[in-house]
Amino acid sequence: MSFNLSKEFPLLASELGELLQRSGENELAKTVDGLMVVDRCRCGDDFCATMYTVPRPKGAWGEGHRNVALDPQRGFLILDVLNERIVAIEVLYRDEIRESLLTLLL
Ligand SMILES: [Zn+2]
Repeated sequence: MSFNLSKEFPLLASELGELLQRSGENELAKTVDGLMVVDRCRCGDDFCATMYTVPRPKGAWGEGHRNVALDPQRGFLILDVLNERIVAIEVLYRDEIRESLLTLLL
């Protein structure tokens, strides 16, 4: 089970693209439309709508990992980037996204 981020969450995808450009992350911004979401976070926190765009690692992301914290109008958006590829999108305190995500990925 996976889905295209920009197809299921077009508003979030354009928001991410815009915020990345504003942060000077133009190369990452170009990749947003092609992102496939393969899993969601299973932490169970009711404010968490974190999505994985590669299979979740067993432990830490390891070397080559960095976080890109964006500055959205609402909630928190933090990207996990591994070797300059977006591997996870931490989406926090965005109820509308979480609701849809839970129906897409059980
Ligand atoms: Zn979580």
